[in-house]
Amino acid sequence: MTKFSELNLNPKVLKAVEEAGYDTPTPIQAGAIPPALEGRDVLGIAQTGTGKTASFTLPMITLLARGRARARMPRSLVLCPTRELAAQVAENFDTYAKHVKLTKALLIGGVSFKEQDALIDKGVDVLIATPGRLLDHFERGKLLLTGVQVMVVDEADRMLDMGFIPDIERIFSLTPFTRQTLFFSATMASEIERITNTFLSNPARVEVARQATASETIEQGVVMFKASRRDREGTEKRKLLRMMIEGEGDKCSNAIIFCNRKTDVDIVAKSLKKYGYDAAPIHGDLDQSHRTKTLDGFREGDLRFLVASDVAARGLDVPAVSHVFNFDVPSHAEDYVHRIGRTGRAGREGKAMMICTPKDEKNFDAIEKLIQKEIPRLDNPLAQAPAETPAPASDEDKAAKPRRTRGGRGRTKHADAAPTETVETTQPAQPEATPEKAADKPTQSDKSRGGNRNRRNDRGGSRDNNVVGMGDHMPSFIAKSFDERRAG
Ligand code: AMP
Repeated sequence: MTKFSELNLNPKVLKAVEEAGYDTPTPIQAGAIPPALEGRDVLGIAQTGTGKTASFTLPMITLLARGRARARMPRSLVLCPTRELAAQVAENFDTYAKHVKLTKALLIGGVSFKEQDALIDKGVDVLIATPGRLLDHFERGKLLLTGVQVMVVDEADRMLDMGFIPDIERIFSLTPFTRQTLFFSATMASEIERITNTFLSNPARVEVARQATASETIEQGVVMFKASRRDREGTEKRKLLRMMIEGEGDKCSNAIIFCNRKTDVDIVAKSLKKYGYDAAPIHGDLDQSHRTKTLDGFREGDLRFLVASDVAARGLDVPAVSHVFNFDVPSHAEDYVHRIGRTGRAGREGKAMMICTPKDEKNFDAIEKLIQKEIPRLDNPLAQAPAETPAPASDEDKAAKPRRTRGGRGRTKHADAAPTETVETTQPAQPEATPEKAADKPTQSDKSRGGNRNRRNDRGGSRDNNVVGMGDHMPSFIAKSFDERRAG
């Protein structure tokens, strides 16, 4: 097996690699580093978790170790789809270039232009950027790309998903024709193929095995779940998630919980928090400092559950995640592979569990087809859970369905037995999420309290004789006609 020491890397880079604890390159590194060091274009087909970041940072540092940057003219450029990934690439440069004098700048949204401008003005060897932010700087005349000798496109398929391909093409056209290009993508969609045919010149193609097939250390499972009622799906899914987490006990030291939509990321994180779980959300709508803080907390073990969207979690390198929970079946089968790849890294054991509802079955089939493996069906712990106190119309149900105004007074009257949950009122209103958000509160039924029974009355139960649906006031004509009929 090849060793790093045989790869012709700069001795100072090699030293940093050794200090990081690596002596054997991963397959993508063994395949990509030699042609990259020869100055060839590289097309790397590899997913995150394969060591692909080092497969371009190590040769880049070696190539850039000689020479100096000029003001506003970076010598190399790394394009990443997300801020987190860009920050992670920057960390890799810090690790591996620690014995080499190289300057770098990170151009990502959420960081002030001024600071970034100052760095670029001084001249940087490595510029790591998200495409939009890079073009913003370019448009402002603060940056010249004509000095770029090496350009990296990382996670091109994600760039495609995010609509960045026109930006990438534009950036390519702003860099010199003679540049070296290192291009990475987990998959080769036809649009990606087109870009590589246009902008790469006779690349060395290095393809590594899919992570899902490579990583046998990930134990997978799925709970096929059907809600008792459609309007309770969110509530019941969140409960199921909690039971799945509980079922894992101490084995679940930390986990990433994936949702398909940002609103659900927020809802699930809030819901978990309310039930006493140490959870926080991460998605693209949260400001950068918040995202960084959350991620750092998770990496350092201060946060146990990271609730994430695909985009935010893309490429995150979190060394030891014991579990991945797919709260939703991802709509792109590829994302499943990425998601579960967050656990079982570098030979560690990991577990990936998913919830599949009937409407997800098509996407679920696509996943099994892609990974060419049947995902073991797990028992639904919710189905085996002891029946709840007879309170079918819980707070959650009520929240999931907009209330009818007619019953307002009756409910107020009964609220004494169901203490108001303050958590609900603190949540910001968000139209699409409001009903679900409200559903996040630990419900009366969850807490085995009896207060909800009052709600049965709202729905025609008969625990007391209050007028239902009209408050205490009954229009007189109703009483009249009733009396008349009885009289007749
Ligand atoms: P990446 O695919 O770049 O996100 O890397 C995934 C993880 O693999 C990171 O935690 C790296 O630090 C780690 N890694 C990188 N190179 C190696 C290597 N040669 N041997 C073992 N782990 C590595």
